[in-house]
Amino acid sequence: METKRIEGLWDCVYCDTKMIKARFGSCPNCGKSRGVDTVFYLPMDIEEATLTKAEAAKTTNEPDWLCGFCDSYNRSDALFCIKCGSPRGLSTDNYATLRDDSKENM
Ligand SMILES: [Zn+2]
Ligand SMILES: [Zn+2]
Repeated sequence: METKRIEGLWDCVYCDTKMIKARFGSCPNCGKSRGVDTVFYLPMDIEEATLTKAEAAKTTNEPDWLCGFCDSYNRSDALFCIKCGSPRGLSTDNYATLRDDSKENM
């Protein structure tokens, strides 16, 4: 069974461009990179945002990964969760310890 991939959207905080597609790592209007705080949201028109197979293949060759800590979807090339900053691939087993460490460093 094939699951549909929906492309998330984000807003540029610099020039106020809205609904930039998740495939863009920087604002197509002003060229600023999207920050780590960028909040993604789903478009109103899900059908419109659903990637075709060809598009999906172009954007990434791996499926997006789901952050186990905040349930955010992240691009396959993202090493850290866009929302909570958790490193990719860490299981919940060792998260508590890691989180404590990083808090002390901050
Ligand atoms: Zn912009
Ligand atoms: Zn997360």
